[in-house]
This record gives sequence, structure tokens and C-alpha cells, in this order.
Amino acid sequence: MTEKITMNNIVKRYDKEVTVLDDIDLTINEGEFFVMVGPSGSGKSTLLRMIAGLEDITDGVMKIDDNVINHLPPKKRNLSMVFQSYALYPHMTVRDNILFGLKSRKVNKEEQQKRLHETTEMIGLSDYLDRKPRQLSGGQRQRVALARAIVSQAPICLMDEPLSNLDAKLRANMRIEIRRLQRQFGLTMVYVTHDQVEAMTMGDRIMVLDSGKIQQVGRPIDLYNEPANLFVASFIGSPKMNIGTVQKDIGNKKFIIEGELAIDVPDRVIEGLKDIPNITVGIRDEHITPPEEGKEIHTLEVINVENLGNETSIAFNVGKEIWTAKWPGQWDIKVGEALPVNISHEDFAYFDSDTTQLIRSS
Ligand code: ADP
Ligand code: MG
Repeated sequence: MTEKITMNNIVKRYDKEVTVLDDIDLTINEGEFFVMVGPSGSGKSTLLRMIAGLEDITDGVMKIDDNVINHLPPKKRNLSMVFQSYALYPHMTVRDNILFGLKSRKVNKEEQQKRLHETTEMIGLSDYLDRKPRQLSGGQRQRVALARAIVSQAPICLMDEPLSNLDAKLRANMRIEIRRLQRQFGLTMVYVTHDQVEAMTMGDRIMVLDSGKIQQVGRPIDLYNEPANLFVASFIGSPKMNIGTVQKDIGNKKFIIEGELAIDVPDRVIEGLKDIPNITVGIRDEHITPPEEGKEIHTLEVINVENLGNETSIAFNVGKEIWTAKWPGQWDIKVGEALPVNISHEDFAYFDSDTTQLIRSS
């Protein structure tokens, strides 16, 4: 009973002028956990509200399965929604908040109680049914909002930044819980967040949105390994991919990065990139590694060190950029030190600086 959502050339304009979403082409599969991620103002909530029917669609076609839903009222879309603000009724008990939707749909009493008990048992709210929202912690309120979505048994669930009001530890727990519930009920989930860690850890697939345009859609690991453009490269991953502009030194078979870091590059790579006048390289922090003999060694000036216990994060100046390396374990490294590291062309992703598109991944 799960369902699929299709969007063809979806556009949203306000006042016939400002384009907030442009040419959104997308299929969200049945039973999939689909994450929409992007910076604040990129259009995530607007798109989610268009799926919900709370916002008009300016142009394009939106479908659930084979049915065009552009003008279908929200109540008939058979979906549930969880907002950042929880939107609980303060004067109602937890029980009544959870059952509110079922009561207004006149689901019979026995069925209401059955769903209430199953759901609250699973979400860990059984002991709180008689409380009012103000007598609950933030995490418990968020659970009530989740329970309300789950009891509706709608096959599609929409969530808009549901965890952003919670502290870091609770957020980590709730990520797991939401994912578990989604799997258990086979829900088609559309989950909006500005937090790329949530996107990476929860999504079957991720869509990265910037300024109302799709930047890339794919599995988390594919976005990490092969970011389609410089925006995705610097948005996905924590920390962001290290980026630097290239001057070609063809005679010496080197790429000079940020005017100071000269990396050996083989002929075939130089040949493959010869038609691209301006190149930017990207390298992940785990690929700037402790020096090993036989590998290409470069010396970088350390500007910051973070000892995290299980790993050490080191920051360097590379031209006008700050690069970071992440080394497993604990290292005694001092700020100001000239630190030898391995950097190899093999770990570079190459982007066209003018179009920002990926040309060649590592
Ligand atoms: P996000 O959820 O990614 O932070 P939103 O979807 O809320 O972004 O907003 C996307 C853009 O649409 C923003 O630039 C916002 O200012 C604009 N916007 C949202 N609602 C309206 C409105 N009612 N009228 C005009 N512009 C709006
Ligand atoms: Mg929003």
C-alpha cells in the first residue's frame, strides 16, 4: 500500500516573478527514505508543502502513483506530515493529540485504541498518555508528533526538519528511531533537512537542492564519492571536501594548486583535461595521509589541531584555502609545525571551474 511520487518539471513562483523552485524532475520510489537537503532558503519546505497540497503548484505535473494530484485537496492525498514545530494542541492530552486525526476521520473507537496502543508501545509513550505537551521534554513531544503520523497509517509520510529543535544526543537517537519506524511500516518517506549528516545517515537516496534547483540525486555514498559539482562537493561530507584552483605546469607534468602545492600528474590525466581551461581539484580529508615512504610527500603548515581521541583533525593553509586532514588515532602535532603528508593525484576529483561540474572523479 505504499506509493510512489512523481514530479515532472515542477515550478514554483511567487507573485509571478520570484522563481523559488525551477524545473524539478524527480521520482520518489515506494517505500523509500528520500531526503531533501539544502541550505536555508533553497526551497525544501516549499517543495514538501507542494507534495502535501498546502502550496499551489505554479507549473508542471505532480503525481502519486498514476494519479495527477496538482489540484487534489490535502485531506485526499492520504499522507501524514511532521513539522519542526511539532504542532501539538497544548490543551489536549498526549492520547487526544495522537488520536485527533483518527477521530476527525471517524475511525471506529476499537480501531483507534488498537492503533494507539501498538504505536505508543513501540515509540515508548505508553506511560505518558494522560500528560499534556507542556509536561513533556522536547524529545517526548517529538515522539507524540511521530506517533500521530504513524497512527494515521498513511502510506506516505512527509517530515520537515523534525529534529532541529533537539539536542545532539537525542537527535542521534531519533534518527535511528525514525528510520526504524519507516522500515517497519514500509513508509514512503520524504524527509527535509538542512543537516547533511542527517541526510547521509538516514537517506536511501538524497536530493541536494540549491537556490530552487536540483544539484544531484543519488545514494549518500555516491554523492560523497562523486559529487556532481562543486556545490555538492562542499555541501556533502563533514568537513567539506578540500578545494583548490589549478595552474597547469605541463612541462614539468605538475598541477600547481593554489599557487603553492605542486602535485605530480601523469600524462594521461593531463591529456584528459587538456580542453578544460580552468580546473579546480577536490580532495577528501581522509586522503591527506600520514607520510609513508615511496609515496608523494608534501609539507604543509599546520594552523590548527583537534584531538578527538579516536582521530586527529589537522588544518592547513593552502594558498587562500584552509584544508583539513583526518588521521586515525592520536598524534602529537603542534600548531605552526611544517608537517609532511602524502598527497597523490589519484585522490583528486577534478571540476571545471567555469561550469563547476565534475569532470573526473578520484
Ligand atoms: P527552505 O525550507 O529550504 O529553507 P523555503 O521553501 O522555506 O526554503 O523557501 C524558499 C524560498 O521561497 C525562500 O527564498 C523564501 O523566502 C521564499 N518564500 C517562501 N514562502 C514565500 C511566500 N509566501 N512568498 C514569497 N516568497 C516565499
Ligand atoms: Mg524549511
